Amino acid sequence: MRSKLPNIGTTIFTVMSTMAQEYGAINLSQGFPDFDCPERLRELVAHYLNDRKNQYPPMVGIPALREQIARKVQNLYGFSADMDQEVTVTSGATEALFDAIHATVSAGDEVIVFDPAYDSYDPAISLAGAEAIHIPLQLPDFSIDWDRVRACITTRTRLIVINTPHNPSGAVLNKADIETLAQITRDTDIYVLSDEVYEHMVFDDGVHESVLRHEELRQRSFAVFSFGKTYHATGWKLAYCVAPPSLTREFRKVHQFVTFTSPSFIQYAIADFMRECPQHAIELPHFYQEKRDTFCRLLANSRFVLKPSRGTYFQLADYSAVSDATDMEFVKQLTQEKGVAAIPLSPFYKKAPDSTLIRFCFCKDDATLEAAAHILCAL
Ligand code: PMP
Ligand code: GLN
Repeated sequence: MRSKLPNIGTTIFTVMSTMAQEYGAINLSQGFPDFDCPERLRELVAHYLNDRKNQYPPMVGIPALREQIARKVQNLYGFSADMDQEVTVTSGATEALFDAIHATVSAGDEVIVFDPAYDSYDPAISLAGAEAIHIPLQLPDFSIDWDRVRACITTRTRLIVINTPHNPSGAVLNKADIETLAQITRDTDIYVLSDEVYEHMVFDDGVHESVLRHEELRQRSFAVFSFGKTYHATGWKLAYCVAPPSLTREFRKVHQFVTFTSPSFIQYAIADFMRECPQHAIELPHFYQEKRDTFCRLLANSRFVLKPSRGTYFQLADYSAVSDATDMEFVKQLTQEKGVAAIPLSPFYKKAPDSTLIRFCFCKDDATLEAAAHILCAL
């Protein structure tokens, strides 16, 4: 059969988690916690499952959940979103990203993405018949070269995809970045897709600069968030998109034929949990900053050189003092021969640089981090 995605193989997250399982390695590759989600949340899910909340919920998400989302957006970002016209619940951020791309771009359009880029962006753009224009982030801090963005904009540019906090680098955009993006897109018909799934993982007293904080920019933006990250429940695949009414209308046209809706009992449970336990999200930066600091302290005497991680639950490490192998070869050896799985950076690039960086995921119990560090420090 002729492939519509001839250059796409199996996602690196599946490749590495499968290899970790096969070799019994400690899995610091794919991003998911090895601890459970809050007990109260599990109780609520069980309650609503047994309370027969098992049929189709509304296509846009249940009102109680959209109401909590609107309240949260107001509290955090000072923007009063209309829960009926601007908030849509989706089956994971992956679905929301796909819907937003397909709602905005057509054959012949161009979409700007920044490399290293999360791996679902490019295939979603290709499947819409559009072309992804890959702009590398600048080393050493993975910042955006805005002059280069200006130079890449053409009459065909329809969408710019940003991701803050950034997977895999841990970089975060600042207020000046958001202001520059607003300037660049002013008086154009370019939309912005802002992947903010790590909104609650910004460290060192930093601020999450959501596009929703920016009155002008949010008029042209789809902002995407994931309950999977915030509630330690990546397997539930529940997320949402906040966008102005005209964008949400188009977004929902795609959403209704991609998944239509998402599991009802989980929506009810999360709506209650958000109301009962708002402190969960507020405490998350501190919780993950401690994990980051623990992991970095444990690796301080290793030969890995750690990059600053200012957000997300990922830590980049330079392995050039340990091995001359390519990043792909190195993570394979590390998994198969040493028993720790990590993610190479090259799959996040259209044209990978000669990089010796790999990504470790630190959203793990301390015992897991200690066991992994014990192995890594011996290399
Ligand atoms: N965007 C980024 C940057 C991610 O790291 C992830 C990770 N899972 C997603 C989107 C997808 O989130 P979800 O699991 O909610 O689909
Ligand atoms: N976002 C997760 C990561 O970066 C993985 C998501 C997935 O496996 N599709 O590790």
